[in-house]
Formats: sequence, structure tokens, C-alpha cells
Amino acid sequence: MEVRHRILALLCSVLTFTAAHAQSSKNTQTIEQVVRVLPSKAGASRYAYVPFDVPRGAVRVRVSYEYPRANGANTIDLGVFDARGFRGWSGGRRSEFFVSREEATPGYLAGELPPGRWRIILGLYMVAPAGVDVKVRIVVETSRAALGPVRTAAAPRRPETHGGAAAGSAPRWFAGDLHMHTVHSDGNWTVRGLAEAAEREGLDFIFVTDHNTASHHADVSAADAASPRTLVMRGEEVTTYGGHANAWGLPAGAWVDFRVRPGDAAGMSRVAARAHRLGALISVNHPSALCGGCNWSYGDAIRNFDAVEVWNGEWDATDESALKLWDGLLRRGLRLTAVASSDSHREQNPIGRPATHVAAGELTQAALLNAVRRGRVYLTREAKGLQVDFGAAAGELGSRSSAARGAAPAKRFGCARREPSSSTSTCVRRRAARPFRSSAAGRRFAPSRRSRC
Ligand SMILES: [Zn+2]
Ligand SMILES: [Zn+2]
Repeated sequence: MEVRHRILALLCSVLTFTAAHAQSSKNTQTIEQVVRVLPSKAGASRYAYVPFDVPRGAVRVRVSYEYPRANGANTIDLGVFDARGFRGWSGGRRSEFFVSREEATPGYLAGELPPGRWRIILGLYMVAPAGVDVKVRIVVETSRAALGPVRTAAAPRRPETHGGAAAGSAPRWFAGDLHMHTVHSDGNWTVRGLAEAAEREGLDFIFVTDHNTASHHADVSAADAASPRTLVMRGEEVTTYGGHANAWGLPAGAWVDFRVRPGDAAGMSRVAARAHRLGALISVNHPSALCGGCNWSYGDAIRNFDAVEVWNGEWDATDESALKLWDGLLRRGLRLTAVASSDSHREQNPIGRPATHVAAGELTQAALLNAVRRGRVYLTREAKGLQVDFGAAAGELGSRSSAARGAAPAKRFGCARREPSSSTSTCVRRRAARPFRSSAAGRRFAPSRRSRC
């Protein structure tokens, strides 16, 4: 069922003028619309679209919008599709954006402005029962100079490797963070700032997972190239109004469509399939989070996922709930990998707290993702300090083992605190203050504290 929305008034004013610079012959066209948006019915789409036409020769498109917030009763997200497809998303972070050939507002993609029918997308995060009027203003700037050939930006370098062991060597542990945000969505970090913080925190790798966009990809490649130690990689937090999912390891410029209705398990399964076709892994994020639309509503679509974020920021009851969800999956034979992430948006919420440690033969995206998929991970509150050693009577970390009822598990582990001098002290298995033993023998977690998603 489509969203019920109607245009109350259409104030379409077209202003054309010749710029002072005769050579550029710039023209500007302004379109204003007021769109009446009503709450979505259950099961209906949560998006409304405002189409507009971009003429040949466009050099810049600027969009702004405003609406009465009604003390938080209305929250409308913003994005745009050009004549070819996805062009950017800022959610509720910004009231305006622009795109041009050379640059764009963070969250949006710079590049050629194809002529034809574009569509502003309004995300109906919250709409008061009476509805809300959304005023949209579109300014399209054209220039005869733009009719020339289009420059194509060089493809960003794909993160590959940052030292580590040679391919085929014995696995070693790499510490990282799988979930964080920048100015390209609702974070305050720059991508470069994240990479520098990762270096300070001693992280071997990070995935930058801005909400519903690919505009951070070029910055990720640049930050990775400038980062001496940390592998900086691309991700997207596919953010729906019925739950969030992280796609890790996307190709440069690849975007995963987030427009899935809450509760639409088949639609969310298609999201997972799309991520896998792109060579990425996909994880259910903070499945029990309390923020609006953050908790998982897609039921058994989870069986098509690779991982579950059981620990998001500081530990709290929602993580406890996520851990139980994961344990329930294991008991059903669904072997998703448990991961921990900071979900950092700003410096006050440091990255690497908590951290996911991954056993891989080398520090490359492919090796890390393969190890995560195989369950070769453990989780700690901080990246530094705690080292876990695993022993197995048979098999290896991440493999399946069986034991007769009442028998001791075939796998066991011990953990040791690494002192600042880098010497290793006594076993501190007791550090797992409230150890959780899952149905997979030998998996335990040390609870901590948490914040938001
Ligand atoms: Zn997030
Ligand atoms: Zn989230």
C-alpha cells in the first residue's frame, strides 16, 4: 500500500536570470512545493517522493526542506534519487543539501547531474496523527559550460592490506571495531579523524558504516592510504524503520537499498542477498535497542545473516537481550557470529569500546571477513589489555564440536591481562564477572556498560 500523501498547494515559481559572467551563462530555476504527509498505515511504505525535472546542463542542485516539529511529534528524513538512481541521504541530520559535479554535502554523491526526472525522498520516521506539511525548495543551476565532456573521478583505492602476517601463515589476533559513523550521516567524526583515533586506540582495523549512503567511500580510501597501521574499510548501516543491519566490505561506490517496510522479512532477506552478491558480510545490529525503529522486526530473516551485534557500546540490558537472542539462534543450529562494536558517533563515545578480536592469517579485508563469517572472534570491553588464549582438544576456534551429555567440553579457554610493559600476567578467567556460557561450548563474555545505537 502506498503512503497516503497529497499535495495541498503547489507554489511553482520559476526564476530565470543571466549571471554576470557572460561566459558561464548560468541560469537558476527554483521550485517550491508544500507536500502534505499523513501517517503511514501498518505495513505500508514509510517513504514519500517529490519528483522534479533536472534539465540538460545542470551544474548544481540544492534542496532544502522545513516542517513543524510539533515538539518531536514529526520527524521527516531527507534524501534524493537522480535520474539514474541513488544520489544521497542525510536522514534527519540536515535541513538542506547540494550536489554538483565536483562536490556535495556529506551524505550525498558528487558527480555528473544526469538530466531527467529526479525524486526527493522523504522518510516518514515520525508523523503526528493529523499529518504534517513539508515545504520543499529545489534550486537547479544550469550552465552552458556544463554541456562539455564530463570528468570522471579516479576510482578510489580499495583497502587491501596493512602488514600483518603473510598469506597462508598461522592466524593471529587483530583487534577492531565494526560499527561507527561520521559527518556523512549523523556522526561528528570525519573519516580521517576516525582513522587517527583508531591508531591511538591500537585498533588493527575499522569499518566505517554510515547510515544509508556510500558518500564516505572516497574518504575511507584516502584515510586508509594515510593510515600507517589501521586498515580502514567501507561499510553501510542499512537503517530501516524496523531494524538496522551492517554490510561490511562493500565495493567502492556500492550502496545497499534500505527501503524495507518494518516486519517485511522477505524484503530484509533481499537486503542480505544484495550484500552477499556484493561480496560483503551482513550483521543484525543492536537487535533489542530501545530507540525508535532500532530493534529487529524481521524475525527469521536473521537466518540469512552472518553475524549479530550482541554488544553495542556500553553493556546494558538490551545487550543482555541480544546475547540471549544469539544463544537461541545457536540452539536452533543457526551459527551466526557474535560481534561487539562501539557504534561511535563522536569522540565522547570512543571507538574500540567494545572491540571485536578476529583470528586471521593476514590483515586484509578478505581474511578478516572470512574469519568473522567462520566465528573466529572474541569480544572485549577494550581493544587493549586483555588477551584470550583458546585451547581445543579437537577442531579449531569457530568449528563445531560435540561432547557426550555431562562430559567436559572439548574446547576451553583462558584469558590473561596484558600489562603495560607488554608482559603477560596470570590468568584472569574471573574477569568474566558474570560469565555467560552459550550452547557453543567455550564461548563466554565479560559484560560491561553501554550507551546508544
Ligand atoms: Zn550505528
Ligand atoms: Zn543502528
